[in-house]
Amino acid sequence: MGVMAVDKNDLNNLPRLLLPCVRCGQCRSVCPVFLAKGVESDSPRGRMTLVRALLEGKLKPSDLLNEKLQQCLLCRTCVMECPSGVHVDRVIIAAREKLAEKKGIPLKKKVITRWLLPNLNRLAAFMPAAALLEGIVAVRVSGGYYRPRLNLPLVGKRLLPSVGGKRPEFLTSSTGGSFSASSAGRRVVFFTGCMTNMAYPRVAGAVVEVLRRHGVEVVIPKELVCCGLPMLAAGDRESFLRVREENIKVFKKYPGLAIITACASCGSTLKEYYAGGIEGKVYDFTEFLLGEVDFQPPRGVVERKITYHDPCHLRKAQQIKEQPRRLLKSIPGVQYQEVKEPDRCCGFGGTFSLSFPDLSQEIGITKVQALMDTGADTVVTACPGCMLQLADGLYNRQSAAAVMHVAEVLAAAYRAEERQN
Ligand code: SF4
Ligand code: SF4
Repeated sequence: MGVMAVDKNDLNNLPRLLLPCVRCGQCRSVCPVFLAKGVESDSPRGRMTLVRALLEGKLKPSDLLNEKLQQCLLCRTCVMECPSGVHVDRVIIAAREKLAEKKGIPLKKKVITRWLLPNLNRLAAFMPAAALLEGIVAVRVSGGYYRPRLNLPLVGKRLLPSVGGKRPEFLTSSTGGSFSASSAGRRVVFFTGCMTNMAYPRVAGAVVEVLRRHGVEVVIPKELVCCGLPMLAAGDRESFLRVREENIKVFKKYPGLAIITACASCGSTLKEYYAGGIEGKVYDFTEFLLGEVDFQPPRGVVERKITYHDPCHLRKAQQIKEQPRRLLKSIPGVQYQEVKEPDRCCGFGGTFSLSFPDLSQEIGITKVQALMDTGADTVVTACPGCMLQLADGLYNRQSAAAVMHVAEVLAAAYRAEERQN
């Protein structure tokens, strides 16, 4: 079932968004939250009923209603399944806004959307100090991750990527900075996003490396901020509009340049919720590589048994399914094994995993088990959020499988090619 095109302004029109829902319940069979909890009010149809009741004044804003609406991953699995094309995710976002007007934003989300994310660039300056604390507050585990010894604020005991060894100069690299390519090919803006910047700079390095090999000059403007999805998802439209405006101002300094992302969530947000002249210019890294440049398959060998997890915001929001698979299968030495239900949500959901860590992990177990059942030694995906969730889930189930981004596997293959030559 195709996704119904919805105008951005429809977020302001909840009744119109709700209208096509015929309450058939087909969405229940795929919603990861409903499958975990088994309660109608935690299903997409149940949430639509609650929102309708709120609009009709039959239900008053309450903490319980807020919790029901917050417990949605915005994964869009229901949207793909719905025969009437209901944009459940947009209904939820709009309803959260409505509730936020009445009850305010929950404190935990406010800390994230109004303080933490808008200040990430400044916080990057504290990375070296944070790296020193890593070994004290957490135990180092394989794959460059840390397991907190105690419940930490916001993240609890979830696995954390190491912040040690980061290159702060990269995090704040200036226009046309250290990663620019020399060849005279295309020039692009790379929207790295918070998760890649803070948790996986190695992914950003791999993206730049692969693009440079294709003669693409990469610009990483240091002024770019969070894409705004966490703000949007929290119902904090004001904060979202603020960061969007900041980013658009930066994009305008690079007229005509394509904007590349390697984060499925940033990509879908930029494509769907941004305007201001960037329409049609945003590409996922995999989409760009196969559609916009003359892709040169690597000749270097990477001996890995790989399986791939489809990020919801890539496959369901951007309809990008084949590109990552084609890229992975183009690498000599890769044994590719498709996982059962490859587009099943991993349970991360951005701030969902911080607000509902137990539910997030419970949803992730089915996914992780399916990935382990493939016998793959490497789980690959195309979203840093999914990477963190899968690494945590695999670690909790004593799996030794590595978690990598598509760009990292490709970069490894090009490096192997260089060594072979
Ligand atoms: S959201 Fe779609 S699938 Fe779910 S009950 Fe409504 S019409 Fe049916
Ligand atoms: S977006 Fe995902 S979590 Fe939310 S109601 Fe739909 S299927 Fe369930």
